[in-house]
Amino acid sequence: MFYLGVDLGGTNIKAGIFSPECQLRDKSSAPCPQTDDPAEIVVAICDLSQQLLGDNNIPVKEVRAMGLGSPGPMNLKEGLVLKAPNIPALHNYPLGRKVSRRLGPPVLLENDANAACWGEFTQGAGKEVTEMVFLTLGTGIGGGVIANGKLVHGWKDEAGELGHMIIYPGGRLCGCGQKGCAEAYASASNIALRAMDIVRQDNQASSLRAVLEQHQTLTAKDVFDHAGQGDRLAQSVVDEATDVLGLLCVNVLHFSQPQRIVFSGGMIGAGAPLLEGIRRAFQRHIWTMKSETLEICFASLGSDAGLIGAAALAIDAYN
Ligand SMILES: [Zn+2]
Repeated sequence: MFYLGVDLGGTNIKAGIFSPECQLRDKSSAPCPQTDDPAEIVVAICDLSQQLLGDNNIPVKEVRAMGLGSPGPMNLKEGLVLKAPNIPALHNYPLGRKVSRRLGPPVLLENDANAACWGEFTQGAGKEVTEMVFLTLGTGIGGGVIANGKLVHGWKDEAGELGHMIIYPGGRLCGCGQKGCAEAYASASNIALRAMDIVRQDNQASSLRAVLEQHQTLTAKDVFDHAGQGDRLAQSVVDEATDVLGLLCVNVLHFSQPQRIVFSGGMIGAGAPLLEGIRRAFQRHIWTMKSETLEICFASLGSDAGLIGAAALAIDAYN
């Protein structure tokens, strides 16, 4: 018997075949169709899965279940994706049921950040702990909360939106409509936007100016790279972001007292300057009435965390 894990993203769909012990046997990926028709997304997921199974000579009837991580808010019980910011075709769409009907095996739907959180918790940076919080730094800041060894879903499956914890009341406007969210200061996209704003408005010398003039845009990687080379403007943007992430860790610690907060996403490629910056900011802001032993670390599974977590959830549900 085998299990499938699928990670649906706005750009790519990734799929993996797993043993009942959740060992990854093989994986593959395909572009996510850019379409208004949700049925095309279903076909793409099923085609990718069938091709991967075919390449491994596994008949689909030997697949016990699929775990499917999707962007969302979603209604997990009904298998509905309510809204997916990067996949506009998925709007109040019964994605789990449609994929299951076309492919055959039952499909367990999960929010993509929660699936990646569960992957890191079961096989990655959270393996030895029972209380963990997961934060992924990309376009936005996604989150997942593990309490008492279980994913926290909340009343309507929307728990763990930690990037929208308000760090500065009345602060910068976030894409969600609130002001002062952590995400508005410290997601990869917002770090890049912030640096572009300052370079454009300020006469301060910065090595980022030449990059912006050449490419008409900046990335978070540019900002971290130039900070590392001693650019003061870039460093001020990095300092602001790491301070916000340290504050977020303080708030998260007081919320569910995790043993470990695990950061993931493309931005962790910035390495030690990011991690050390967050750790220092945490120490600056945390209370002094007792000492804390929270570990702040990076994820270890890279971009496979979502597939692994989705498969692991399906195995738990259907084994
Ligand atoms: Zn927000």
